[in-house]
Amino acid sequence: MSDSLAYEWYPGELEIWTQKEDLKVSQFAAKHRKVTLGAHQGDWDNSITPYLVKIMDTYNLPWVQEIVICGVPQSGKSNGCINMHLYAVVYRGGNVKYVMLPKENLAKKIAKDRLIPIYRMCEPVAKKLSANPDDTTASRIAFRDGTVVYPVWGSSPSEISSFPADDVFADEVDKNDDLAGKETNALNLMEKRATTFRRPKKIKCSSPAGAGSLISKAFDACMEQLDYQVVCPFCGTKQSMSEDRLTWPGQMDLMGKVPSLQPNVDPKQVLNDKSARYICAGENCGVMWNDMDRDRAVRLGDWVPRTIVERPVSVGFIIDAFICPDISLSEYAAAILKARTGDLADQIELDNSYRAKKHEAARTARKEDFILRLKDDRPRGLVPKNIYCLAMLVDTQQNSFYYEVKAFNEGISLETWQVREGEVSSFAELLTIYNDTYKDIDGNHYHCVKGFIDSGGGTGPTPNHSRTVEVYEFCYLNPQFVPLKGQRKKATDRHFKESPVDYYPGTNKPFPQGLLLYTINVTYFKDQLNGKLRTNPDDPGAFHLHSECADDYARQMCAEYQDPNGYWECPRGKANHYWDINTYAFAAAEILQLKFRDRVREQAAARAPSGARMLSSGM
Ligand SMILES: [Zn+2]
Repeated sequence: MSDSLAYEWYPGELEIWTQKEDLKVSQFAAKHRKVTLGAHQGDWDNSITPYLVKIMDTYNLPWVQEIVICGVPQSGKSNGCINMHLYAVVYRGGNVKYVMLPKENLAKKIAKDRLIPIYRMCEPVAKKLSANPDDTTASRIAFRDGTVVYPVWGSSPSEISSFPADDVFADEVDKNDDLAGKETNALNLMEKRATTFRRPKKIKCSSPAGAGSLISKAFDACMEQLDYQVVCPFCGTKQSMSEDRLTWPGQMDLMGKVPSLQPNVDPKQVLNDKSARYICAGENCGVMWNDMDRDRAVRLGDWVPRTIVERPVSVGFIIDAFICPDISLSEYAAAILKARTGDLADQIELDNSYRAKKHEAARTARKEDFILRLKDDRPRGLVPKNIYCLAMLVDTQQNSFYYEVKAFNEGISLETWQVREGEVSSFAELLTIYNDTYKDIDGNHYHCVKGFIDSGGGTGPTPNHSRTVEVYEFCYLNPQFVPLKGQRKKATDRHFKESPVDYYPGTNKPFPQGLLLYTINVTYFKDQLNGKLRTNPDDPGAFHLHSECADDYARQMCAEYQDPNGYWECPRGKANHYWDINTYAFAAAEILQLKFRDRVREQAAARAPSGARMLSSGM
């Protein structure tokens, strides 16, 4: 009787009743998953990304309905999620499942190119694929046991049918522009479809991006949040890894200063040398781990919950770059160095792709004391020893000029010193200050090599004052000065451009030939300045003030703040002239290409018969 019954069953139905192997997700992956793309192709190996084991096996906890993975790119998180999805198809068959993959070009193609090959390479899933090609398409994959997978993507909430789903898997939710800021996005809809089931499983995974990062929000909302702690292979100390224990060599010893643990060096050098190390936090250890030691420490480590929660419904994991075997310590160090220069894009990259954090623009006003800590012991007007050159920066007002004479060093770290600053009323006075002889403590003479003057008119669409004609004529007659015009652009846009002044502003009256106007990207240079102000005065590339620098100067340096889009704003009624002047200073350094200068080579060239002239004077 029972035999004849068995004959009536379709293979798909039998499949449902077949005893499944008793495996957790990580064991299932080790046995059945083949990785077809990326750095670790072949059989899935739990020892490569050991931190994924617990994340995947969290799927097996019956009370967990939501798993959130906020992790950096290259952490293997997407593959971990795919393992959970494959497991769901095999072990939780018979219902609708939604899969949202990152939108690379066309989502339909993603299903075809990525998802279906993964199914075919996973034997227990492949066995369930239908023999009918109509069942395995880019928009709907129907398995023999009644499981149906719908691939979806953010831009098309309509693609999400009204079927309730027991499994929802969304990859790279923050990379999907279509999800950002929309209340009725595909992710929300997918989650709604899952609520009708008693025990749905939702998996969200992404590297954080954007001010309204969905993955950060989802992580913050989790009942249980876990961080990874590693174990030193030398002393056994369990520890969270932190950036202040990351170290790399520099040239500080040569300068006779106390070597810094994190000197300002060229990020490319750190990356090439693979010279970054991690100092173990163990009390009597202090061993400096290389990348292989770090990998061992990760393998010995484990996840630690921030607070113990009994049977949490939602669990969140943070995977930062420290624990990823595919990200070297030196790559992390290089990202820190790049972010230090103040470029917003680099700061966002450090937060999103290394710290696994969303980037929050520093909107809190800097305190004046923070600026005044940059004072050294020179009196106003004294040039520091052994500088590369002096330049003058001028901010044009309706009835006056703010100016600063600034000393620069050449090279990548770009150290600067305030020498003399103030407010004067006429162009003649500017020339006097420009032409003054400046001295260092040994009596060496220095002269300004270039003056940069704001062309007047402000950066806004309607000029609040316009002295542009006067500035152009002044620069034409005094070619040691060049006019600058600030433009509010995205930090990633071109840093500056030069264009000839052909006409008197706003007219078709020709301007005498030969004057160049420099239009500078103030967002970029203000970001750079902001980074410089954070550099400690004894570190290379510092921003120095003389000892008599006034509180008002510091106040002006604190006037502006960054809006959520990264643009700098000056609150109404706050003076920001010296902030502008220092913005011009870093634009000037770029225009003069100080980064690429090398006085040793230039001095040698000057001695050579061709007589190439040095930029600097006084040495
Ligand atoms: Zn140790």
